Amino acid sequence: MTRRISIFGSTGSIGLSTMDLIARDPEAYQVVALTGGHNVARLAEQAKALNAEVAVTAHEDNLDALRDALSGTDIEAAAGEAAIEEAARRPADWVMSAIVGAAGLPPGLAALEEGACLALANKESLVTAGPLIMGTARKHGSRILPVDSEHSAVFQGLVGEDMDAVERIIITASGGAFRDWPLEKLAEATLEEASSHPNWDMGQRITIDSASMFNKALELIETKEFFGIDPAKIEVIVHPQSLIHALVGFNDGALMAHVGPPDMRHAIGYALNWPERRTLPVDRLDLAAVGSMDFRAPDERRWPALRLAREVMEAGGMAGAVFNAAKESALDGFIGHQIGFLRMSEVVEEVLTALSVDQSLMNAAFTLDNVRAADQMARMRAREIIAGG
Ligand code: NAD
Ligand code: MG
Repeated sequence: MTRRISIFGSTGSIGLSTMDLIARDPEAYQVVALTGGHNVARLAEQAKALNAEVAVTAHEDNLDALRDALSGTDIEAAAGEAAIEEAARRPADWVMSAIVGAAGLPPGLAALEEGACLALANKESLVTAGPLIMGTARKHGSRILPVDSEHSAVFQGLVGEDMDAVERIIITASGGAFRDWPLEKLAEATLEEASSHPNWDMGQRITIDSASMFNKALELIETKEFFGIDPAKIEVIVHPQSLIHALVGFNDGALMAHVGPPDMRHAIGYALNWPERRTLPVDRLDLAAVGSMDFRAPDERRWPALRLAREVMEAGGMAGAVFNAAKESALDGFIGHQIGFLRMSEVVEEVLTALSVDQSLMNAAFTLDNVRAADQMARMRAREIIAGG
């Protein structure tokens, strides 16, 4: 039986890996919606290759170009946020959420409301609105499968286990581009240096977030929200080889580690084939060639983002939405050469401090509108702070 699938963010790094798996077995899938941003040529090419029902670009200015690129086919073209949400409401069995940033939340919620199985790469959905997204899945009987490699690893480690027996969850961090840089040099780190990852080939934003550890900070919050575990039981360990993705520690002292090559097609393929396992085109590890693996405790002076994530988990409420939006703005500031590398975490901390006094904002109920309001306030505040130097 063919499965109806949609890919939100099909033109990005996760999107391309997902497309790669789908294209290996095209008869098995009917592609409903594909969405992208400015890369209209790639989006149109993907939609034609897999004969999608609809292709949506996030930007209205790109609609004419998308229409031109799809002329002569019966693939629908659409543009804008509302069109993305509409595409997410089309009946589908499996939906990949791989838009980067808070923009990934609304289509994910819509897909869950329609009962789709949501493969969630967009970690920002859980960081900004964990209780909303998990509650929506429960209410509509929809399933969320984690695609972030660490969370897929934990999910796999928990199959057949009782959460009450879990003492701790350990997620690994490669340490990113600046793991071994002297602390004094970090303030001078350039955009180019922050944009190259030692082990993983990913989108630019998450690659810079890996260098600053904001990526791991988001993943701590993601772990808390997805698995419903006490933050005190979640640990981060630096593991430069990125071969162990996460470990689950049980009350009998056992630690179950998930080991595999750093290739996102594993986590994507696991979610695609779940609850079965099927052959995937990823390298098989030669442990003798690997030889050894290293671990070290993360240094919170080097990576203040980890401390901030702990504060956000403690605060709860809209702190996650504020944290993420401030981080996205600070990242824009770094990419736009307005602020230096170390200034990013300072900006985020200043926004959190400034907005935490607004109890009605921070403790508002988990609705999409309230999450958006907290997100907007944080972006505004971050931009003021960045402009103020
Ligand atoms: P990417 O930048 O390569 O791709 C992002 C996709 O989102 C593109 O299709 C882009 O066109 C689209 N997009 C960007 N802004 C948009 C907007 N405002 N509205 C609609 N669409 C928009 O990013 P990526 O590395 O593929 O990451 C995607 C998500 O998956 C992120 O949340 C990231 O944290 C998460 N993730 C990525 C990896 C990885 O290996 N790349 C691993 C784990 C989790
Ligand atoms: Mg990850």
